[in-house]
Amino acid sequence: MSFMFEKVAVLGLGLIGSSLCHAMRKKGLAKAIVGHAKSEATRKIALEIGLVGSVYATAAEAVQDADLIIMCVPVGACGPLTAEIGPYLKQGAILTDVGSVKGAIVRDCGPHVPQGVHFIPGHPVAGTEQSGPRSGFAELFENRWCILTPLEGGDRVATAKLEAYWQACGSNTELMTADHHDLVLAITSHLPHLIAYTTVATASDLESVTSSEVIKYSASGFRDFTRIAASDPTMWRDVFLNNKEAVLEMLGRFTEELAVLQRAVRWGDGETLFNLFTRAREARRNVIAAGQDTPDFGRVPKKQ
Ligand code: NAP
Repeated sequence: MSFMFEKVAVLGLGLIGSSLCHAMRKKGLAKAIVGHAKSEATRKIALEIGLVGSVYATAAEAVQDADLIIMCVPVGACGPLTAEIGPYLKQGAILTDVGSVKGAIVRDCGPHVPQGVHFIPGHPVAGTEQSGPRSGFAELFENRWCILTPLEGGDRVATAKLEAYWQACGSNTELMTADHHDLVLAITSHLPHLIAYTTVATASDLESVTSSEVIKYSASGFRDFTRIAASDPTMWRDVFLNNKEAVLEMLGRFTEELAVLQRAVRWGDGETLFNLFTRAREARRNVIAAGQDTPDFGRVPKKQ
């Protein structure tokens, strides 16, 4: 049997890392899958549920002789991780990541990648609010987009191979620059998360509405915000620390639109409200038409 890769090292075995392990096993993409997790608890679970053949306490050990290395750790951890593994990477290997921000990954990891190693940052636009090694499932990437942001002058054959890998995991792939990725994701993902976190925090600070009322009537929209706001705090802290400019730009635009709505509500301007809601409804229909809808606000429920 021929495999796409002889040895794949997955560094970080949380939601994304463990889902990749499941997907690779299901599709037979790698002859050997090894992992690295910093906590002993995660390493134990990874072996127990068969995510990887071997698991190492240090990333340097895990990457030895690997043809594909995928960093599945918070964005802020990728730079130090690349510095640690750099000297141990095999010539010709592909090094990638799955971080939700790309400019910062290029900035922090790029300088530590040795000559002869193909560094191709990536981001699977797929997720749930779950985290940890037990949260992954093979279908997470199916019919989702995976964006790759190859560096200028990077090896095209290596990029094509990584694209083929993500396609084999069930994803559609797209190439763009890191800066463009960060702008697009600021509006489609980062801003909605910021709004969800704020809405949930505002509701929990209310004194005139009891928390049992908030929970009881949550099906009226709040529920979807709570699901998004349940996402991993470390991951999201790193996203906002590392995509500052694009998020602030989108937040500025959002605040302006919000002020327009605030004014329309204050002055009873039904026409402005109606027109904006009609435009927004159209966007929702386009998401459904593109097959990017799931019953729970764009997030895939964990398969039991
Ligand atoms: P997760 O479930 O919380 O898993 C994170 C993993 O990273 C854990 O295995 C953790 O190890 C490890 N880790 C944390 N800090 C580390 C450090 N300093 N050094 C080494 N390992 C470290 O997170 P996830 O959702 O898989 O997210 C991983 C990456 O995927 C992030 O960069 C995120 O931006 C990106 N991403 C997430 C989603 C999503 O919806 N969740 C979607 C697309 C991309 P231990 O278990 O040992 O603590």
